[in-house]
Amino acid sequence: MTSRPEAEQETTPSAVSPAQDQTVKGTNTRKVFVRTYGCQMNVYDSERMTDVLAPEGFEATDDMEDADLVILNTCHIREKAAEKVYSELGRIRKVKQERARHGKDMMVGVAGCVAQAEGEEISRRAPIVDLVVGPQSYHQLPGLLSKVRNGNKVVETEFDIDAKFDHLSARAERPVMKRPPAAFLTVQEGCDKFCTFCVVPYTRGAEVSRSVEQIVAEAERMAAAGVREVTLLGQNVNAYHGEAKDGSIWGLGRLLRRLADIDGLDRLRYTTSHPRDMDDDLILAHRDLKSLMPYLHLPVQSGSDKILKSMNRRHTRDEYFRLIDRIREAAPDIALSGDFIVGFPDETDQDFADTMDLIRRVEYGSAFSFKYSQRPGTPGATMDNQVPEDVKSARLAELQALISGQQKAFNASRRGMVCDVLLEKKGRNPGQIVGKSPWLQPVQLDAAEDLIGSIQAVEIVEIGSNSLFGQLIAGQDDHANPGLPRLRSKGDVI
Ligand code: SF4
Repeated sequence: MTSRPEAEQETTPSAVSPAQDQTVKGTNTRKVFVRTYGCQMNVYDSERMTDVLAPEGFEATDDMEDADLVILNTCHIREKAAEKVYSELGRIRKVKQERARHGKDMMVGVAGCVAQAEGEEISRRAPIVDLVVGPQSYHQLPGLLSKVRNGNKVVETEFDIDAKFDHLSARAERPVMKRPPAAFLTVQEGCDKFCTFCVVPYTRGAEVSRSVEQIVAEAERMAAAGVREVTLLGQNVNAYHGEAKDGSIWGLGRLLRRLADIDGLDRLRYTTSHPRDMDDDLILAHRDLKSLMPYLHLPVQSGSDKILKSMNRRHTRDEYFRLIDRIREAAPDIALSGDFIVGFPDETDQDFADTMDLIRRVEYGSAFSFKYSQRPGTPGATMDNQVPEDVKSARLAELQALISGQQKAFNASRRGMVCDVLLEKKGRNPGQIVGKSPWLQPVQLDAAEDLIGSIQAVEIVEIGSNSLFGQLIAGQDDHANPGLPRLRSKGDVI
């Protein structure tokens, strides 16, 4: 699945192991600035890159002008993604020139899916770029940077995903500290589905799953470092098929059951899933595991059988409805999310009406929606009957109004409930803390800062446009207790 496009963010990962920390303090520290675009997998990869660089004496900075190394971790999902990277590189060129005036050097790297797709073209069009590195090669960063320091331009975009995962495993052997209460953990990469609108199979390669042992080891380290909630990541995460020690192959449901046994890991999530890969074991995990949060991002993209076929989604709308019924039977309070593309080639008014009908029938808690845009190299880009922009815009507005109404209704239905909230960080206003509800909504409340990292019972008292507002329930301790009901009615607090 396309990982959901999110706002661009600058990442200053705090994950530096004690061993790494000593290395940094004991040497001439250099600064790395990472700007992360796109999905959670890129956020995770940015953390991994800074982990790999820490023993080399690099520490993260959020000030590009202060950086000896700038890395753009790019995303290819958005329209004109490559052009946006080139214009950002134009801005970086000025920063690099300014640093040079003060006798300071700056290396510039481009990572992520645009790096994978564009390769050498990047250094040709943007000579300030020293290093182009694809998502499967981040473990090689120290060696690649050493080549750059020797005056070479380096392009490394080989698909050697097993080596990357082996490296991540080695990393998991080291202790970690200062993890935020909620963190990502990649369990699977790549995709074999070849939806006709999507570049992922070309930029991230075939599906590969990490071994059960590697994932459990990393999750245990994260829990020991204070992580309370782990979101398992994969381009097609529910296609996970990792090998266990005894040689058996585990699906995602079985993996989640194993991770649910780890002490201190109180919340589990996963994203992003394909409807074809929601098997019974995974669905029943939503019924059986209290730590598996009642939220599921399950993109369908279209409600028209004709368009689903043309997108190569490999399921029909009726199969999707039946799947939703089974999921809701297992987990009645689940919040469903999705992705929708409007204006795929040959989408008629009737096809669009079928999508709107599907949305009305499913009732989503939230969803992401986009106008179709042609991605070079994908079959959709050359299909006949491309839909005019004005038609796409009108359909998108109509669809988003419907989704927005459903989201408001879902959020409003939480008013007066008491739920467990993982308190994650300080809010904008003094005394305010922001946490996350079981259904992935941000919850704002007044609470002491030292409660960050704990799970508290919170009454939802107000509903905002994007957040819920809550109040701590007095006298309730940290609800790490997995036996605690995850949703109760007001007045029913134990
Ligand atoms: S090809 Fe389809 S299933 Fe695979 S990542 Fe892209 S949208 Fe998801």
